[in-house]
Amino acid sequence: MYFGSVKFFKHVIVAVTILLIVIPCVFCFLLGLKNAKLETENEKLKTEIGEYQLSGHQSRYESDELFSLYKENLENKEGFLKLAYEYDEGLYKAAAGLNGDAAPTASTEAITAAPDTTAEFTHSGTIILDDDPDKIDSGRASYEMLYPDLYAELPDNIVYNDDMDYVYLTFDDGPSKYTQNILDYLDAYKIKATFFVVPDGSEESNARLKKIAEKGHTIGIHTASHEYNKIYESVDAYLEDFKTAYDRVYEATGIKCTLFRFPGGSINDYNKEIREELIAEMTRRGFVYFDWNVDTSDALGATWTEMYNNVRTQTIDKNRAVILMHDYNGGWNTILVLEDIIKWIIGNGKRTFHIDKLTEYVKPVQF
Ligand SMILES: [Zn+2]
Repeated sequence: MYFGSVKFFKHVIVAVTILLIVIPCVFCFLLGLKNAKLETENEKLKTEIGEYQLSGHQSRYESDELFSLYKENLENKEGFLKLAYEYDEGLYKAAAGLNGDAAPTASTEAITAAPDTTAEFTHSGTIILDDDPDKIDSGRASYEMLYPDLYAELPDNIVYNDDMDYVYLTFDDGPSKYTQNILDYLDAYKIKATFFVVPDGSEESNARLKKIAEKGHTIGIHTASHEYNKIYESVDAYLEDFKTAYDRVYEATGIKCTLFRFPGGSINDYNKEIREELIAEMTRRGFVYFDWNVDTSDALGATWTEMYNNVRTQTIDKNRAVILMHDYNGGWNTILVLEDIIKWIIGNGKRTFHIDKLTEYVKPVQF
């Protein structure tokens, strides 16, 4: 009789031992392997981001590779975000979503070790015109005297359009190698959109800006450097960056932009100190900023399915929707899904939306 025999109990003990010791050991071993793999990935990311920074690149716009690294390492998102933050806050912000997660606390060494790019910036905000005592007496801030030509030429007596059920597609951070693809889709559906641009002054960039303008889309200013730390250091610094971008667009297209979008949106983690003053100053100069109320999360690395669903769920209940998308070199998902997004907006079967570009006659959507 096997059951109840000594042999039986021996076998039971062996079986229990295997269950209690061997299986957890195997499990731990596999877990260790996985961690080791993540560790290697981290090291690889660290080296590549470090090299990338050392090679003088400061923003993600020039880097497909960096963003593909992010995409490949989605399962290790937390690790990526931490590293990105340590090495490139702009990249971190983009990866974390423009308005998304609060930044993790980066070590001070990591930040101070980062290449110093602020040196080339000169701030003239402390200049007070001695020969104009009225201005000093009236308590005007010194930055109000900077760039005396930098004022938006807005039409008089603006009455906003009645734009119930309108959807505005906006593309930040371009122009890029994908700009032409975006223009083609917009052409195919005979719709106009808005590009908040980051012009770099190169021939290539100028040619792309020109194409956007020739097609009749709206060009608004985004930034010249897209470096949050620099541009939000002071109102002066912001104006200097804005002016650079503004001049570049004017040189390329002859357009004097009136609309703009703050990098990271009007409320972000970087502009807390100067936000109120900055918005007041830009408004005083006549410039109109647009935030957004629908975020595709393409800058977060959203898949095209996620982008599509983000648009559907966030747009359906809006009377006027301003959709945030990106036109940058890593933005292939945006291109992949753009046509589907347009198709859904114009023919979703529930509501009839119109698509148009932003102008001074559109009531701003602001946070
Ligand atoms: Zn941007």
